[in-house]
Amino acid sequence: MIKDDCIFCKIAKGDIPSATIYESNELKCILDVAPANKGHALIIPKEHFDNIFELDAETAAKVFSFATIAAKAIKEETNCDGLNIVQNNGEVAGQTVNHFHMHIIPRYKDDGVKLGWKQLETNPDEQNELAKAIKSRL
Ligand code: AMP
Ligand code: ZN
Repeated sequence: MIKDDCIFCKIAKGDIPSATIYESNELKCILDVAPANKGHALIIPKEHFDNIFELDAETAAKVFSFATIAAKAIKEETNCDGLNIVQNNGEVAGQTVNHFHMHIIPRYKDDGVKLGWKQLETNPDEQNELAKAIKSRL
């Protein structure tokens, strides 16, 4: 499905220009127009899925499979010291474009990019109970 009012559907179709790294029938990989760092890329399935809750496992596999290839090429080209894969789902999680996409963000020493969180405390009983509850929903 393609959504008429979706910016990434338009990019996928080529109606909006993008700095394209790779394109197949299913995927497009482009440079982010407002990158966290030099070489920040996005992998976008051409089909419209709002987020991971709509995405099928087969398309997800293609996205991540290509991420392994893109990550190596970006590392080689940019000489980055590390790299984050980031994928936001929902406004509270930082998603601003509601068409599933995966960020590939090269990292450089002392680059100041912030992706961290405060770590909560846990206890084994609660963790095991939660793991079991989630397992029952798989
Ligand atoms: P997210 O916040 O995870 O939804 O990420 C959306 C990303 O899309 C942001 O990093 C934007 O900079 C990027 N973006 C928005 N419009 C464009 C565009 N026309 N071309 C390339 N990247 C874009
Ligand atoms: Zn779309």
